[in-house]
Amino acid sequence: MLHPAFAAPGEFFRGNLHCHSNRSDGVLDPAEVCRRYKAEGYDFIALTDHFVGRFDYPITDTRDFRDAVFTTLPGAELHSGAMENGELWHILAVGLPADFAPSHSPDFHPVEGQETGPQIARRAREAGAFVTIAHPHWSGMTLSDARSIEAAHAVEIYNHTCAVGTDRGEGGHVADLLLSDGRDLNLIATDDAHFAGPDHFGGWVMVKAEANEPDLLLEALKDGNFYSSQGPELKAVALNGGHIDVACSPVSSVIVQGHGSATTLQHGTALTQARIPLDRLKDSPWLRVTVIDRAGNRAWSNPIWL
Ligand SMILES: [Zn+2]
Ligand SMILES: [Zn+2]
Repeated sequence: MLHPAFAAPGEFFRGNLHCHSNRSDGVLDPAEVCRRYKAEGYDFIALTDHFVGRFDYPITDTRDFRDAVFTTLPGAELHSGAMENGELWHILAVGLPADFAPSHSPDFHPVEGQETGPQIARRAREAGAFVTIAHPHWSGMTLSDARSIEAAHAVEIYNHTCAVGTDRGEGGHVADLLLSDGRDLNLIATDDAHFAGPDHFGGWVMVKAEANEPDLLLEALKDGNFYSSQGPELKAVALNGGHIDVACSPVSSVIVQGHGSATTLQHGTALTQARIPLDRLKDSPWLRVTVIDRAGNRAWSNPIWL
């Protein structure tokens, strides 16, 4: 059984789903953010400015920057309600309608009477957005915080800005615990670029779709037809009997992760194919694949449910 991301028709399009412009606290105007991503070979981005009153609740309009080879998805980073540590929620919403109603979120601190994080996440999903739990490690998110975002489609497994700026870029721990709860979640790598430092072009998604068009990309994201990367390319992930077969650009490690402590792996030199027995994961209801190249860059498959 070929993983649905690879079985889906079409081709892979490279995109960054999380970044900021000077419509909120980013350094560059939206045109320059789009120009830089296009120049670096990205097929699309979602500009996700901070949806707070201080910035007049931006859902930044990027339609003027679309052309034959580059497109954009509307989006925002939503902020409302407090996590268990008392800090404000950060929830990524890609594919938001332009008329998504402002929350009562004047600034980057929780206030009385505003929606909770779970409520604004639900409202975004019901409005059509692809909803992601942003940077769990950076946020200091607890497992019960993460569990409460029942509307999430995905978790940020890697946030480049948080990695570069705070060495807290990982989301794999929380994601794996939610998967073991039985939550049907996918994994995205993002930049969260503000262009104030070296915070860009470090993590992206590769979305399989029939064309580089916003509606098709959004549908593919919701269907889980993508993988995430810092560099390596995943070409196929397939379950075949008691094995998982992985085809990829040259890597040094292919690791399969599942419930609890279950993992198995193959190390090698310039590995482009691996056939890994799943004996150690036979009791796991889900598994996922991580490949790591010689430079330490990773790519992550979405989970497969057994
Ligand atoms: Zn954030
Ligand atoms: Zn952000």
